[in-house]
Amino acid sequence: MLDSVDLDAYVICPLSEAELKSLADACGRPIAKGLRHFLAEVGMPQNVVPSLPQDADALVRSQHSYDTSAFIFFDYGESFLAENAAGQVVAGDLYAGVQEVVHADFDAYLAASVEPPDESPELVWALELSFSTDDEPLLREALRAHLDLELESSWQSMGPSRADVITAVAMSSSDSMPDVQRHHHGSWEAASYSLDFEVPAASIREFKQRFAALKQAKLGFEMFSLGIGPAKAPKKLTTEQIASQRAEAEAACLERDREFLESLGAEVPGEPCRRPNCEHARIEMSVLCRLHHFESIQGRAFGELERQG
Ligand SMILES: [Zn+2]
Repeated sequence: MLDSVDLDAYVICPLSEAELKSLADACGRPIAKGLRHFLAEVGMPQNVVPSLPQDADALVRSQHSYDTSAFIFFDYGESFLAENAAGQVVAGDLYAGVQEVVHADFDAYLAASVEPPDESPELVWALELSFSTDDEPLLREALRAHLDLELESSWQSMGPSRADVITAVAMSSSDSMPDVQRHHHGSWEAASYSLDFEVPAASIREFKQRFAALKQAKLGFEMFSLGIGPAKAPKKLTTEQIASQRAEAEAACLERDREFLESLGAEVPGEPCRRPNCEHARIEMSVLCRLHHFESIQGRAFGELERQG
């Protein structure tokens, strides 16, 4: 059985012969011919088969979840798609136990399921990358070393969401590279960072090594593949767009705060708030005054945008 470090090798296709072999070993059955060819040559866009190649662990589990000898490549809870020894794609159901041939072979399945990419000389693999870490210097170093992505040192806040998640942007110092967003909430242990990233299709093998290095860097690295298609210019916000989003988010936050404060009702004259040195009276539902009750519920003062600790 593979351990989780070995499984990281499958973070992106194409797989080497040795990787295909250890995957088959972990699954306890040979990888069917059509699927095997695809894994070795191209790789599986995740928008077609979510379990491949991102989560090899789930792929291994699938093989043991249903009573079939076919190789299961798509498992959606109570039913599955698999390739049998004859190379046919079969659909199965956990409870009915029925298996029927739905495609003559794996290529036919792909042809029916995958939108062919536009004709384009420069195909790219579109990815969403995310990191969960409290070590920002290490993250910056890793982005520089493994993705050639250099970030400006300052973060521009885009303000709080409805759920008090604060988003900020660090611009990349190159126009051809994406910006990075940082999301943080007072109750989270670590910040979460995200970016859209495109890998030239011809460089997939080289980038596979880089992503493996990111996985090993203890940065909470995760990758979601959106499949192969034509290149797009990286999404970048201007300073003006960020400022206007921030103003909008802050206004909405203040509005929500005001509504909440109103809903707390009037203070009860003659019954002081429990907070030391507070001159206000408590409200009906609390031993605290309106502002201090607000603070104890929201984890931040009225008018402040970020939750403290
Ligand atoms: Zn008070």
